[in-house]
Amino acid sequence: MIKKYYLLSPGPTPIPETVLSVAAEPIIHHRTPEFSKIFMEVSEGLKYVFQTKEEVYILSASGTGAMEAAVINTLSPGDKVITINGGKFGERWANICRAYGLETHEITIPWGEDFTNEQLAEEIKKNPGVKAIFTTISETSTGAIFDVKGFGEVVAETQAILVVDGISGLGATPCPMDEWKIDVMVTGSQKSFMIPPGLAYIALSPKAWKMVESSKLPKFYFDIKEYKKNLEKQTTPWTPAVSLIIQQKKALDIIKNLGLENLLKHHQILGEATRAGVKAIGLELLAKRPGNILTAVKTPQGVDGNKLVKIMQSKYMAYISNAQDPHKGEFFRIAHLGYMGGFDIITALSALEMTLMDLGYNHFPLGASVAAAEKILREGMQ
Ligand SMILES: *Cc1c(COP(=O)(O)O)cnc(C)c1O
Repeated sequence: MIKKYYLLSPGPTPIPETVLSVAAEPIIHHRTPEFSKIFMEVSEGLKYVFQTKEEVYILSASGTGAMEAAVINTLSPGDKVITINGGKFGERWANICRAYGLETHEITIPWGEDFTNEQLAEEIKKNPGVKAIFTTISETSTGAIFDVKGFGEVVAETQAILVVDGISGLGATPCPMDEWKIDVMVTGSQKSFMIPPGLAYIALSPKAWKMVESSKLPKFYFDIKEYKKNLEKQTTPWTPAVSLIIQQKKALDIIKNLGLENLLKHHQILGEATRAGVKAIGLELLAKRPGNILTAVKTPQGVDGNKLVKIMQSKYMAYISNAQDPHKGEFFRIAHLGYMGGFDIITALSALEMTLMDLGYNHFPLGASVAAAEKILREGMQ
């Protein structure tokens, strides 16, 4: 059979054809009115998705570059910080902070568990003088979302800033920067922003900008003051990733035409359909508080989770993601963010059912998960 490739991973995500094709157009020079116009339109579009009146800066980097930029632009050597580690990406905050010599209090939560704003308030009380709290809206390694709104209320009462990794969540789950009192928000281009990897975005609140003024950690390429100075001149300090920015303009047009509200609703429907589908065949979710960005599903007893992912990918070409270390094989992740539609969920569930049958997990009628998802999609796909 012809094997068709289905990308169902939480980054990179599928890209609309109209966005792909603009990358093939002749390159234009970046110090031109023509590029500046596109660049400023992208800046405005990003502000719309961030739901902020602050400027959003565009870095040539994967999402982690913006995470690093958040750390080095606000803090000074020896500063005390709290990081919330509920998975691989929360863990990254602590790794970056330690690399820069910060006094890092890492709160480690079992993967898939929740962490409340009351717990955060306790931790802040135990660590007087803490300068920044680092968290994640959507922990892509577990499918869980955190109560960033609640965290914002707690942190706003203190001297500290709240720094949020919105790399998979922004544009897929509600996370209004200004309304939720987020001080630094970072995200990346290859998740819900519907373009290839390579751009990272960062915005800072007035409270965070105050810390930028006194920050003493070393910085050069990601010095946010350079980006600010240059944005005022409608440009970037260094050569921008021209083609990616042009692609982002195209993808932001799609987002704006649909409307952020509708885009979030879209993800909610895909999330509900996926959860209903896997539950219908007796599978369990990993996350206590699952988001609509991706769904992490526990490998059922008696099934080899690594084999499951391998068969999904090689036999059915359905590129879902395995769990990351140290939980490889224990669960798997079906993504529903970026340029995905209802039938991508049907594809994922159908391939999952056939794979489970291949592996001898067969106590469900074929089509059961698909039927459960269809019920939700039929209502939702207006
Ligand atoms: C993908 C992701 C990252 C890492 O981003 P890179 O683009 O790989 O640098 C960080 N945090 C979260 C929540 C992510 O989903």
